[in-house]
Amino acid sequence: MEKRFMPGFRTREELLELQLRGLKWTVDHAYSGSAFYRERLDKAGVRPEDIRTLDDLRRLPFVTADDLRGEYPWPLRSVPFEDIVRIHASSGTTGKRKVMVYTAKDIDDWADMFARCYETAGLTREDRVQICVGYGVWTAGAGFQNGCERFGAIALPVGPGNIEIHLQFLVDFQPTVLCATASMALLLAEEAEKHGILDKLTVRKIIMGAERSSDTMRAKIRELFRADHLFDIPGLTEVYGPGTGLDCEHHTGIHYWADYYILEILDPETLEPVNEGEVGEMVYTTLRKEGSPLIRYRSRDLTRLIPGQCPCGSVLPRHDRLTGRSDDMFIIRGVNIYPSHIDEILSQHRGIGSEHQILLDRGPDGKDYMTIKVERARGAGPGGDTELGRQIGVDIRKALLVRGIVEIVDYGSLPRTGRKAQRLFDNRD
Ligand code: ZN
Repeated sequence: MEKRFMPGFRTREELLELQLRGLKWTVDHAYSGSAFYRERLDKAGVRPEDIRTLDDLRRLPFVTADDLRGEYPWPLRSVPFEDIVRIHASSGTTGKRKVMVYTAKDIDDWADMFARCYETAGLTREDRVQICVGYGVWTAGAGFQNGCERFGAIALPVGPGNIEIHLQFLVDFQPTVLCATASMALLLAEEAEKHGILDKLTVRKIIMGAERSSDTMRAKIRELFRADHLFDIPGLTEVYGPGTGLDCEHHTGIHYWADYYILEILDPETLEPVNEGEVGEMVYTTLRKEGSPLIRYRSRDLTRLIPGQCPCGSVLPRHDRLTGRSDDMFIIRGVNIYPSHIDEILSQHRGIGSEHQILLDRGPDGKDYMTIKVERARGAGPGGDTELGRQIGVDIRKALLVRGIVEIVDYGSLPRTGRKAQRLFDNRD
């Protein structure tokens, strides 16, 4: 099939050349268009003409989420208001949202990036795409929708919630592709099973975004829908929105759109690059974003770059699935733990359900305790709980060097939600 949204270049050298041009343009554009950036760059003693090679990126100062909130309501705005056609904001839970402005070209570029995601997932224009993510001021719905229309497949914009409409559409319109958070995909699969309609469904590809998902959960979703592929779509409001990359059908990592942004993977403490293949914080510099360009934006998301070449032959580099956020890390009894560590351990166990929770408490003895609630497998009785809990406990102690209390609970007893599920509860203060 003809590729319409892939980059025109073939080699890494061409990509680097394009990145350098984009970096020069971005620094110049931000310096002349934004008082915030001008002040930052002046303070760091860097002028746009100082950017001569890609290595000069490292001379540029960082931008953080706090900067964005501090400059509310128009942070990083680098164009006059008359050039802005839309705003989006993060779905932050507290305080000031992170607001990004978009020019017509930004919206256009974003649609192209997203259409490339659908192309990477091997969709055709005959595919029907049921979109189960939120529509509103955040970027999710708009991104999936515009990208689908740009690509030319049929969009079914249902949004989250309203399970009944979802089930009805799944049967009546026979969508072949589902776009949802992992929690929502699992919820829909389980509801479809309850209603006895799984056999009538035609979903073959699921594009999952915005949430870390355990292997157990992914296996469950695939099994219930009998889907051929699960794809991971990364993205954050600050970098247009969802659609900044996708894994191809080989699933060897997420190809990211390096012709639209430079991705640095840095040690969150030292802010120096990590060794190739090691986990670090994703730091973004956009190459053609006009409204709210990013220069070394610290996302707090953690992942690693995947070295080598994908069997698909793409020149677009790859990063791994997101393993968590640097601010999600918790410390218990002096040990640094990311919730993804617990996911990994649990995913090696058969005989457990798809949800879990991590609870941190301070005991009357003043010590910290970690309790992990794990669902037993669907249809399993409580007879094996003690042994299962013991095995998981041993694995946690071995892998994390800290003891956890494992509590096995009934299948389906932990909350399911179409939104991002909260799995970590820190009750210490
Ligand atoms: Zn590939």
